[in-house]
Amino acid sequence: MAGDFIADVVRQDIASGQTRVQTRFPPEPNGYLHIGHAKAIVTDFSIAEQFDGVCNLRFDDTNPDTEDVEYVESIIDDIRWLGFSPNQVFYASDYFEDLYTWAESLIERGLAYVDDQDQETISGQRGGYGQEGVESPHRNRTPEENLDLFRRMRAGEFADGERVLRAKIDMQADNMQLRDPVMYRIRRGHHHRTHDTWLIYPTYDWAHGQSDALEGVTHSMCTLEFVTHRPLYDWYLEHLDLPREKPQQLEFARLELTHTVTSKRKLRQLIDDGVVDGWDDPRMPTLQGLRRRGYPAAAIRSFCTHIGVTKTNARHSIEELESFVRVELNRVAQRRMAVLRPVKLVIDNWPAGQTEWFEIANNPENPDDGTRQVPFSGELWIEREDFAAVPPPKFFRLYPGNEVRLRGAYLVTATSAVEDANGDIVEVRATYDPASRGGNSPDGRKVKSTMHWVSADHAIDAEVRLYEHLFAAEAPGQATGDPLDDLAPASVETLVAKVEPALAAGESGVGPGQVVQFERIGYFAADRDVPLLFHRTVGLRDEWAALQKRAA
Ligand code: ATP
Ligand code: MG
Repeated sequence: MAGDFIADVVRQDIASGQTRVQTRFPPEPNGYLHIGHAKAIVTDFSIAEQFDGVCNLRFDDTNPDTEDVEYVESIIDDIRWLGFSPNQVFYASDYFEDLYTWAESLIERGLAYVDDQDQETISGQRGGYGQEGVESPHRNRTPEENLDLFRRMRAGEFADGERVLRAKIDMQADNMQLRDPVMYRIRRGHHHRTHDTWLIYPTYDWAHGQSDALEGVTHSMCTLEFVTHRPLYDWYLEHLDLPREKPQQLEFARLELTHTVTSKRKLRQLIDDGVVDGWDDPRMPTLQGLRRRGYPAAAIRSFCTHIGVTKTNARHSIEELESFVRVELNRVAQRRMAVLRPVKLVIDNWPAGQTEWFEIANNPENPDDGTRQVPFSGELWIEREDFAAVPPPKFFRLYPGNEVRLRGAYLVTATSAVEDANGDIVEVRATYDPASRGGNSPDGRKVKSTMHWVSADHAIDAEVRLYEHLFAAEAPGQATGDPLDDLAPASVETLVAKVEPALAAGESGVGPGQVVQFERIGYFAADRDVPLLFHRTVGLRDEWAALQKRAA
């Protein structure tokens, strides 16, 4: 569904004679990609694919102060991980000379001028909607004078901020973007690709459409905040000698998610303030973070396709994205048993010292995933919350006198519990029915609960991190303007869990980054680097379905 109205436009263009389709994904390499960028990527690539066109990656690297190769590399890696291959990789900085030449051609035709005023004065004179713009005293310099000054800007004769080049359009335009926008600023920053070659840098607006034109982009998709820039995009292109047909800018709504921010600037602040560990913290909505958390690329792609492109901004529920993650993981994730908050279960009638190995399916949804051997013995770990000394109403799990199934193993009945001095339960005692091997009821008697377990002798300790929303508010920043005011007080809980041997790292266990389902608990991703560290990807409950039911 991605590209609905955009696809319609492209289809019409083809019907009226357009012979080829070319798109681009144009990130600025000043941070890591986030879930919002995934939507742009899916849109740009799927439109190209749908019309047998090509989609390139173009780094919009026009700002030396904030950009870095670290970001270039991570962006290339993230796009590949997401499942897309750009036809070619371009850099706006490769066009600096072309852009410069074009700028001189505007100056020569009296369509651009050098302004000696500072940024603040220029903004003030531009005014606002309904206000008159004030022309710069330098607006009517001759082309000769402008050319001379512009060349001296390039040559480094002026300090940063001392001069700018502006397009001479219309200081009374209703659209503020057309009130003589800045095309070049003087910057002595070090650029990650052109190094110290340039002292003047093009603005986004001056670089973007021209880069599109140089590459032969036909449809240039961007987000809605650029709607007001479109007349300027068109103005520049209409006043230049283009090598090919003029590209067309099309805008779609940004993707926003509840409890999430999608702004590189704000995400960077989370890192700088020490709220998260880095761009790849599993709570971050960056592709690196989501990936470390265990989100499959396929789930992100399906979600972006499902929500489609629209022309109105809307915040989607994070639970809807999670439901795509759950659907995908249910299909691919192997099952394992892990006890997050353990209490000991001692089976009094178990033959002393005996271990029995059960063959348990890795994924009931997919027989090809095979089975694994799971050890069972007379001392097991079970979840603390699966036992109640005095059961509340409708509690069907373990309590004295009640029988439950231990998944794939035996039926057991609790007999008593041992408490410590504080009254906390430290051990549950039980008996098992030897006739229930494999967890089957020997005489058809009903047990209402099946519980997971881990043999105490064979258990491995693993660190498990449970994540909650980073932001407590659905729309972070709505009340105060700063999303960071809405940070949740705690968004990660770390536990030491008891897990079955098949969760060990390595050959017979799980690989780095692999996601498994901890039975009855949720999906967990093995950390890419640290063995025996698991990140909760999502829980098992479909909260999106619950939300929709409540809304209906
Ligand atoms: P940020 O505000 O996070 O810095 P940006 O728009 O400045 O984002 P760019 O690197 O310029 O980041 O974005 C590259 C492309 O991704 C642009 O076409 C932009 O419109 C698109 N994009 C960025 N954020 C979103 C979003 N939340 N939803 C959809 N597309 C997005
Ligand atoms: Mg941007």
